[in-house]
Amino acid sequence: MPVSSIQAAKSFTLLIVDDDERARASLQHTFESAQHQVKTAADAPTALRMLHREPCDLILLDIELPGVDGLALCRLLRAQEATRRLPVIVISAHDDEERKVGAFAAGADDFIVKPATRRELLSRVGTQIEAAQRERALVGSNRELGFLADLGRGLLVALEPVQVVRRVAGATYEAANATLCAAILEPRRMGDAPERATGGAALSESAACVFDREGSAEDGALIDQAKLRRWLKTDPATSVRLEDRAEFFLRDEAHRVEYVAPLRFEGHALGALVVAFDTAEGCGETESRLIDAAAQQAALAARISSLYEAARASSASLAKEVERRTAEAEAQRRFTEAIIDTLPVSLYAVDRNHRIVAWNRNRELGGQGIPRGEALGRNIFDVLTRQRREILEREFGRAFETGRIERIEQESVAPDGTSKHWLVSKVPMRVEGGEISHVITVGEDITARVEANRAVARTEKLAAVGRLAAGVVHEINNPLATIAACAEALETRVVEGAFGQSAEVEDLREYLSLIRSEAFRCKTITNGLLDFSRNRAGQHAPVELGEVLEAAARLLRHQKRSRNVEIEVDAPADVAAVAGDAGQLQQAVIILAENAIDAMPQGGTLHLRAQNEGAAGVRVEVCDTGVGIPQENLARIFDPFFTTKEVGQGTGLGLAVCYGIVTEHGGRVAVDSVVGRGTTFTLVLPSLSGERLDDGGRAS
Ligand code: ADP
Ligand code: MG
Repeated sequence: MPVSSIQAAKSFTLLIVDDDERARASLQHTFESAQHQVKTAADAPTALRMLHREPCDLILLDIELPGVDGLALCRLLRAQEATRRLPVIVISAHDDEERKVGAFAAGADDFIVKPATRRELLSRVGTQIEAAQRERALVGSNRELGFLADLGRGLLVALEPVQVVRRVAGATYEAANATLCAAILEPRRMGDAPERATGGAALSESAACVFDREGSAEDGALIDQAKLRRWLKTDPATSVRLEDRAEFFLRDEAHRVEYVAPLRFEGHALGALVVAFDTAEGCGETESRLIDAAAQQAALAARISSLYEAARASSASLAKEVERRTAEAEAQRRFTEAIIDTLPVSLYAVDRNHRIVAWNRNRELGGQGIPRGEALGRNIFDVLTRQRREILEREFGRAFETGRIERIEQESVAPDGTSKHWLVSKVPMRVEGGEISHVITVGEDITARVEANRAVARTEKLAAVGRLAAGVVHEINNPLATIAACAEALETRVVEGAFGQSAEVEDLREYLSLIRSEAFRCKTITNGLLDFSRNRAGQHAPVELGEVLEAAARLLRHQKRSRNVEIEVDAPADVAAVAGDAGQLQQAVIILAENAIDAMPQGGTLHLRAQNEGAAGVRVEVCDTGVGIPQENLARIFDPFFTTKEVGQGTGLGLAVCYGIVTEHGGRVAVDSVVGRGTTFTLVLPSLSGERLDDGGRAS
């Protein structure tokens, strides 16, 4: 409290404690004549009772009292909170040092020796009262400073308007010792925060808080908000003290004074602090000053909180926007991913550092498949370890360099022996038209296409050979027959001795025999060609394949070449009939069986099996335990004239003929072979009852 505000008290209340009635009366007279209030007591207990009832500004205390003496009373006053700071002047008839020291030790503020002059008495009492007032003022401003510091600290962490009003109302209620204390903040008046930036309802309501008679916080129901708002609209510059009930802002019947301080910031009233007191004295100068200071702090805090709210609202809307866009981008990403996952190709992409940036579903599947999680982000050479690194590196290098799409056909063989054909394309990609940033590798399974092409090519080749054979065989067969007949005739003449008996004649006989047998060998070849070229449309009668197999086995068992071979037929009675030519089908089986027997020169077992293949077909298997067919030959065995047998042993026409017969019957041929273990040829023919099998025979 500034010193200038201390006003020397004009009139004050004194309590005179003296057992000497004359002395009492004289002192009373002195002070009353100077316009002061005087109360008197003759002993310590009476004095204490009076002090308890009503406070006074100073006590004049005689040292010598009956019972409890003056010094004991002085010590008692100092020990009690209510009278700790009450100025005490000890009076004594004796001016000795011992007493004075004793009095000050007991807590007295001054020592007067009786009798004293009127001037001395008034001057000493006046000085003490002023000193006490000054001390009170100091204590008060200390308390105020403490209060403001606490409030400031509290408001520093109050970031929302509700927190601000609550803290300021609570703190002011306590510090001003008020009956009621309300704080209110008007959102629309909180400065220039743009409406848009608040992003919602955060500031659309006013924040209010009232501390009631019990000191508990409530919302603003007690406040006449409409009235207060009207007042705030006038942007009041100063606080008002209201004693007229009609002007009150708080709806409470009992209080007598309201002190209303506007929360002002930059010339605007953002809200108000309304403090109610039950007595007029309760709202003194100290309280008003304190309320004004609190209002000032609250205004600043309110402004900060409105800025904070606005910032928070805009950051919240920003966060929402970011979230929305992230979700959009994520949805877009998933959609793109779904597209590349749905494509019936295996696909992956690498960047210029050969780092994998995309890996689709189909690339995860199959024998060479790798899970996406194990591929993404890694170097392609660390992932595709089964492929030669330098080849792969060259392929990528070319794609990055030339920017042209490269297509390579590849064949892969699974551990189970089935092979697949792939068309692998390396597609260079530019992001936003710059240099090539990525290469996409697309692998397409073209097995079906490749096999269909091969089947077509084979059929065409067979047809061409067939046409050639048909033309040639006829021309060759007649001269062959003539050669054979001539040789035979000459042989007979030799045997009959027409040329005599000599070593030359013996040579002649041998040569003639050779000519004859070679001519017959040629005949078997031309007959084979004839088989091959013959129009195989044949008859379409029901054929029981079980019977065909049995008949073939009977014929084979009588051949010399099959003496080491066990021939077993396995054909259940329920095997469906097929439509076709029994003779041709038997020929097809015999071709396969003879090859099988040839493949088992050391003997073995030949199985001929027939069984139903689903509802629409019959499967015939010719299975041997022979030498097997090396992988590199598999694609060629059906070619006409392909043979691995010695000259004179094979014509290379058997399988071509067999293939022709089976495809004519609407069936297909497959072969499965393991070198050193054996070979199984499988024919699948459409059953009589079922529909035709799908076209495009498979033969490798
Ligand atoms: P050829 O029997 O006259 O050689 P084929 O067309 O009947 O002609 O057979 C072609 C070739 O296919 C044979 O030379 C042989 O190498 C191979 N081959 C066919 N069947 C078998 C089999 N069951 N086991 C091993 N190799 C076979
Ligand atoms: Mg053969």
